[in-house]
Amino acid sequence: MPLNSFCPDSPEIIITENEPLNRFSTLGTGGTAEFFAQPESISQLQELITVTRNNIPVYVIGGGSNIIIPDGTIHGLTISTRKLDSLTWIDDSSAEIESGCILSHLVKILRDKNIGGLEFSAGIPGTIGGAVSGNAGAGGHGVCEFIECVKAVDSSGTLVTFRRGEFEYGYRRCSLSGVITASVIMSFRDCPLWNEESYSGFMLKRKSQPLGFRSAGCTFKNPEGHSAGKLLDECGCKGLRVGDASVSDKHANFIINCGNASSSDILRLAEICSEKVYDCTGIKLEPEIKTLTPCFSVT
Ligand SMILES: Cc1cc2nc3c(=O)[nH]c(=O)nc-3n(C[C@H](O)[C@H](O)[C@H](O)COP(=O)(O)OP(=O)(O)OC[C@H]3O[C@@H](n4cnc5c(N)ncnc54)[C@H](O)[C@@H]3O)c2cc1C
Repeated sequence: MPLNSFCPDSPEIIITENEPLNRFSTLGTGGTAEFFAQPESISQLQELITVTRNNIPVYVIGGGSNIIIPDGTIHGLTISTRKLDSLTWIDDSSAEIESGCILSHLVKILRDKNIGGLEFSAGIPGTIGGAVSGNAGAGGHGVCEFIECVKAVDSSGTLVTFRRGEFEYGYRRCSLSGVITASVIMSFRDCPLWNEESYSGFMLKRKSQPLGFRSAGCTFKNPEGHSAGKLLDECGCKGLRVGDASVSDKHANFIINCGNASSSDILRLAEICSEKVYDCTGIKLEPEIKTLTPCFSVT
């Protein structure tokens, strides 16, 4: 498909070809996007989806802090939401937040406004869209608890709304799929005042993580009643290596890119770790890191 056949009526939408995606991933790995765009408004996002007419796969990346982007060419259109970053207060306690808004930016605003609730998000990288997709959180809480409604773009480019109760969420999961989150309305109406002690406590826990290294956070979810990090440690995974991908010596649930790791190195290392834990304990670890897959496939 020729590049400009995408949005002939909207030259302001810039679509690039063969865009290296490693700079859009905190792991710093991954191949190139055949086509790549960073819409600057929700209507541009809708237009991009409309013109692809389900002829090519469409992928979405937020902050890239929870994904492994496959090596090689990612055929189709990859969209980065980073430029969809506005935050608008609707009233004293609720705001509409575009999906590319950085979670820590929202947390800083809430802290300044003395509105509590999201203290547990201290230090979680990434965007609101990515946080909703995996119900990011800590200490038994997740961001989805605060969502009143999600506005999302479906495969036809239509903006659809999911109100609270129309989607489910749980530990690192949200049932919304097959749509791109454009914005969310979050309500902090019943929240207590900001609790600095709680926030600092969550920040302090980050010290156990290998923060100076490139990673995508925890590799595996905690199985019911267990800590994945502890299981991986006990099964001897710390220090295991494939190429430049290594299991952190500091926290066994973090795979780090020590230099020029590829995404295949990281995936292979994750597989080795999961096999080791299974052989050792019989527990099957479920990945927390997601491999980039299409939001919309060719129909
Ligand atoms: C050092 C470190 C610490 C971390 N600590 C935590 C933690 O304590 N708790 C926690 O939960 N996570 C943690 N993470 C993981 C990560 O930060 C979160 O999962 C984060 O919410 C991901 O957001 P993102 O924007 O980076 O998503 P991405 O990595 O860009 O994407 C993640 C998934 O969401 C999808 N997605 C992104 N945007 C949209 C959208 N607009 N619409 C639809 N789908 C979308 C992507 O396609 C992908 O499947 C950590 C990561 C790092 C690197």
